[in-house]
Amino acid sequence: MVADFSTLIADYSVWTEAYEVAITGDVQAIYDAVTYGVDSGTVFDAIMVTAGPLPNDLVWHYGGEGETGPGFLSPDQDRFLRQRVKEIPIGKYETVRGFVCYGDRLAMLAAGLMQPYETERALSIGHGGMPILVGLRSFDEARLEVLASAVSLEGLQYFQNAVPGMSNLEIADVTGASVGFLVWPPSRAGQVMLSRFAPAILLAFAGVLVLSFTTAWLFRQNLQRVIRGEASARRAAREDSLTRLPNRLAMMEWTADLDGGEGGPRRVLFIDLDRFKHINDIYGHSVGDQVIVEIAARLRGLCPPAGQVFRVGGDEFSLIVQQQDGDEPAGALAARIVEAVRGPVGTSAGVQRVDCSIGVAAGSDLRVPSEDLVRQADLAMLKVKRARAGGFCLYTPEIEAIAQRDRLRETELAKAIAAPGHFSIVYQPIVNARDSSLVRAEALARWPGSGMGPGEFIALAEASGQIVALGEVLLNQICADLARHPALEVALNISPLQLVNPAFRAVIEGCLVRHAVAPGRIEIEITEGVMVDDPALAAIKLQELRALGLSAAIDDFGIGYSSLGVVRQMPVNTLKIDGSFVRDKTEVDRNFEMIAGIARIGHAMDMKIVGEGVETEEEALRMIEAGCDHLQGYFFGRPMPIGDLMSSFVLRHDLPAGAEDGFSPAAPSLPEGRAALPHSSTRARTT
Ligand code: C2E
Ligand code: CA
Ligand code: CA
Repeated sequence: MVADFSTLIADYSVWTEAYEVAITGDVQAIYDAVTYGVDSGTVFDAIMVTAGPLPNDLVWHYGGEGETGPGFLSPDQDRFLRQRVKEIPIGKYETVRGFVCYGDRLAMLAAGLMQPYETERALSIGHGGMPILVGLRSFDEARLEVLASAVSLEGLQYFQNAVPGMSNLEIADVTGASVGFLVWPPSRAGQVMLSRFAPAILLAFAGVLVLSFTTAWLFRQNLQRVIRGEASARRAAREDSLTRLPNRLAMMEWTADLDGGEGGPRRVLFIDLDRFKHINDIYGHSVGDQVIVEIAARLRGLCPPAGQVFRVGGDEFSLIVQQQDGDEPAGALAARIVEAVRGPVGTSAGVQRVDCSIGVAAGSDLRVPSEDLVRQADLAMLKVKRARAGGFCLYTPEIEAIAQRDRLRETELAKAIAAPGHFSIVYQPIVNARDSSLVRAEALARWPGSGMGPGEFIALAEASGQIVALGEVLLNQICADLARHPALEVALNISPLQLVNPAFRAVIEGCLVRHAVAPGRIEIEITEGVMVDDPALAAIKLQELRALGLSAAIDDFGIGYSSLGVVRQMPVNTLKIDGSFVRDKTEVDRNFEMIAGIARIGHAMDMKIVGEGVETEEEALRMIEAGCDHLQGYFFGRPMPIGDLMSSFVLRHDLPAGAEDGFSPAAPSLPEGRAALPHSSTRARTT
């Protein structure tokens, strides 16, 4: 029998015999009458017959004798029910339903008009002459349990107060007052779902009660919707909507399960796409999305059966495999992934190509939690990233040691930045190709005693978020030098992170003002990287600095990915061609041709061309031939203390009138018919 509790009440109340008995006022007889024929245990935990011709409420509690009021309703509930029941049209099998707290249990009640079958007779009796039957069914532990398992809400309980940390569904009585909480252990999404599905749960409770299994069955029908909702929210919280891959949260749960299970060795591959932001920025997010979806599909395709691919970040994936006998080594899998990712990706904006950096951690030691493997793979991936070469790297304890060393160094760096005097600045001359006169000097930072070269500690400062602070320290020292040497002009290296930092402009302005240095004496050098990552932002930032009066140069041009097209959009005065062009001795002629090409185009864009890394006279001559305006390199001078620079190069305004502004070598020796090259004696000592 599938019965609705309230139907039951309607059944019993609209029943001539029941009416006849009810008006006698014998509550035990009423109970027997209304439960007649039902032999499946308790039907009601309590009933109450009230109103109509009855002078007093008649109450009956399960296991007890019938008694005369007060009933189990609060005055408010009582008033409300009477009111509502009186609104039930005569001849209609309707009930008023609601929750109450019965003892310390949640109970459902239904109230109906006790009317005879015969409508005519009922009408003649009228609302006022008919008693109201209120039946109540409570949820004891056993019933709640049956219900809970039937609706798969394990651990469903009733409490009068909410339980922190659990899914709490507040239950209101007919008047809207709280009668307690249905409580169950939350799924992560449960709380969210609660607010959306609370009405459905309540409806489920209110709409369908009570006959134990029957009720449970009906509950299930209604609550399944809720459960399904929770399940889909659970899924949504664990799934990346773009690729349908499980996300980081899912990965954490997955690895926790792996660790708890019987499984053998695991491997973790951490895959990070290289310069993906570039695609997003240039072609828009929809093209970026197409690439991600395609890469996700490729990774899925390469994933061994006992593995799972996760999308753990915008352009980050991880692949976790439970190693089976005969599986290829993790390195081989990584290599195949590198190849697969590299393959052309068709998008609405044409074919795109992406590379990736992969870190691999192999967990043959089962005591290492998967979570640690993920971190190890991440560290190994970062190593690949830093090398900027793409490909993969297997985690070794050394990588961990380096990461640990870096953490120590970060602390050291922070201390050095906070206390004055730790850093020094050396200056490397940049000379005019025509006459070897000093155009400006590139300021290069040193951290004596740290055991780190500038490349290392600058990268460390960048990675640890200290580059802006370090930059300010260095800039102050450089401006102090500029103030002491009024004819000196410098090239100042700026990290991309400094350039895009909103406070950077104010820092520069502050330094210039503090040391009373004219902005025109500083040319900032910025590497290609920043222009590739966000060309529009780079252009804006450079323009801001130009507006302050500084000039700007693109540093290390030719080794990155920026094209002359991107350079054209940049408000820069100078293009510095990377020294690797000269260093590369495999294709000397071709390299100089390339330098010549870059120089031609750079000139067409009104830029000065600096050739870097000039170590020999021959290189200098070829650079000049290729069209470089300025030259820099060990041949002209190594980075040196400011004092050495000053004594090696004579201030131009010390020279006879008519000479150009700026510096010139102390004792220039101009080879005949050639561009000016300094005499070896003018070359400075090394630092
Ligand atoms: P960079 O800006 O390209 O600086 C030029 C680097 O090339 C310097 O290395 C310089 O010593 C080296 N160099 C100059 N001439 C020659 C040559 O003829 N042959 C060779 N093989 N090398 C030459 P350094 O001083 O070790 O600086 C390395 C990098 O560290 C710089 O590369 C720059 O990117 C960064 N850096 C140095 N100081 C600073 C700074 O104050 N701020 C920032 N953000 N970066 C800095
Ligand atoms: Ca530079
Ligand atoms: Ca450079």
